[in-house]
Amino acid sequence: MNKNIPTFKAKKISETQVQFTCSKCKRKLHHSIEEGHRVGHCDCWPDGYYIEIEDDSPTDRIRHLEDALKEIRDIAHVSEGAEFYAMVADKALKGAK
Ligand SMILES: [Zn+2]
Repeated sequence: MNKNIPTFKAKKISETQVQFTCSKCKRKLHHSIEEGHRVGHCDCWPDGYYIEIEDDSPTDRIRHLEDALKEIRDIAHVSEGAEFYAMVADKALKGAK
């Protein structure tokens, strides 16, 4: 028996696919959502590997929320900047009158 069969933790990236990074070649490998032994998608593991599917951890959810908040702040920042230019333009317009 070959003992060189690793277990990789794969992340769900869609409703039908999981992804993980091969520890040897660093390629991103995609598989359908199914745990257990799989045929290798890169040449590093001639005997394949095992896949464990990681659930979205609370940390991931928090990170997604933080990303969403950052996006909102970015947009708010841009519109605040837009408001500033609107004020400058307004002032210039009033001065010109
Ligand atoms: Zn590999």
